[in-house]
Amino acid sequence: MQLRQLTSYLESIAPSDYQESYDNSGLIVGDPNMEITGALVCLDSTEEIIEEALALGCNVIIAHHPIVFKGLKTFTGKNYVERVVMNAIRYDIAIYAIHTNLDNVYHQGVNAKIAEKLGLVNTKILAPKKALKKLQAYVPAEISDQVRNALFAAGAGQIPGFKNLSHTSLGVGSKDQQGTAEVKLEVFFARPLKGKIIRALLDNQGDQQISYEISDIENQHVEVGSGMIGELPHPEYEKPFLQFVKKAMKVGCVRHTRLRSRKIHKVALCGGSGGFLLAQAKAQGADIFITADYKYHEFFDADGEILIADIGHYESEQYTIELLYDLISAKFSTFAVYSTEVNTNPVKYL
Ligand SMILES: [Zn+2]
Repeated sequence: MQLRQLTSYLESIAPSDYQESYDNSGLIVGDPNMEITGALVCLDSTEEIIEEALALGCNVIIAHHPIVFKGLKTFTGKNYVERVVMNAIRYDIAIYAIHTNLDNVYHQGVNAKIAEKLGLVNTKILAPKKALKKLQAYVPAEISDQVRNALFAAGAGQIPGFKNLSHTSLGVGSKDQQGTAEVKLEVFFARPLKGKIIRALLDNQGDQQISYEISDIENQHVEVGSGMIGELPHPEYEKPFLQFVKKAMKVGCVRHTRLRSRKIHKVALCGGSGGFLLAQAKAQGADIFITADYKYHEFFDADGEILIADIGHYESEQYTIELLYDLISAKFSTFAVYSTEVNTNPVKYL
């Protein structure tokens, strides 16, 4: 199997278009056409992970965090990032990162996995993003059904939370002073489908030349965005719930704000550094916000309105390894895939 088969499958779940602007998800080291012998899944592609991949005979590492975030100017091995890149190239190991794009998808994403581990129901994205576009095309009436069907088949109009995301208006086009029956076709689609949608349009235009434009839509895509919010099937008091979270997420130490002596019903969460979502968690009535990387002063922002629980960055995202392992092994049943046995958490508890 070629590396590109594996990465395009992963991008069908978490399109790279959904990554944040500061991110560097995607293929970091390696040739998309290389034959792959096995994949090792981890959170952080450290030097130990390269060694583990070599020992297992894997030549591709699938990591959640990108090892390279910004431009490297030298390759001298003076820090772990340079050493990892140098060793990956030296031993012909590809490194692929699936980071904020996997954070930002509702289905089979990082936060869905955490919600599953915590037994949440009625989940939805905490802070949905604008990720929709609209195609507007002027199509000769006689081929408009064919074009519309081709656009639907390419994924247009299939947006969760909305129905019938297409609009047709009849009109008259003019060419050489001759009026021709024309249809203005408008379809909505999720941003990563843009290339596919344009191809579907152009492949079906026959010998006509269809003019079209694409614009951004202000509505949010309810299945794309940051964090997640859901409910506990049976509300629980704060202390036993925190103890359950500690156990379920294998946390050495949960840092949390003052208990409010009430039951937890709604749970907001975000794997990794999710502090920026506190306002949304409060606004949506969450009783607790579970995330990581909280600083001292930020804990004050709970302000008696919510319980903040910092469960550690690695801990919050650890099940991403299981998630990726399950996805890859289910899709490519005869391909060798391994979950790392190295705990790459740089934070230790005494
Ligand atoms: Zn992270």
